[in-house]
Amino acid sequence: MMKDIHAMKILDCKPLNRYDFSQMRNMWEPVVYEVVAELLERNEMCNCHDCVLDTCALALNSLPARYWILGSYDAFSPPEKFIGNPDNIRLAEEAVLRAYRLVQQNPHH
Ligand SMILES: [Zn+2]
Repeated sequence: MMKDIHAMKILDCKPLNRYDFSQMRNMWEPVVYEVVAELLERNEMCNCHDCVLDTCALALNSLPARYWILGSYDAFSPPEKFIGNPDNIRLAEEAVLRAYRLVQQNPHH
């Protein structure tokens, strides 16, 4: 079905090309990226491209996907609440540290 996963070409073709998928985001991404940014700033992880992306991918795969449509305001659970939730931040920290330990065992760099 999806022949070119890199370009996500299926979204450029009928019938899906009339919908704006760019607004659909996994809300764990900003939380995980924030944790990784802090580790990098403190020089607590390898800063090469492979280690950073592998760590992010592994961490995100280990967390339950939480997709949101940006701009569609949800009064009950706005994205800011999810991103700033201390429990979510702690879960993301644990996921990133676990992921980075795995990456270090078999680094691609
Ligand atoms: Zn590395």
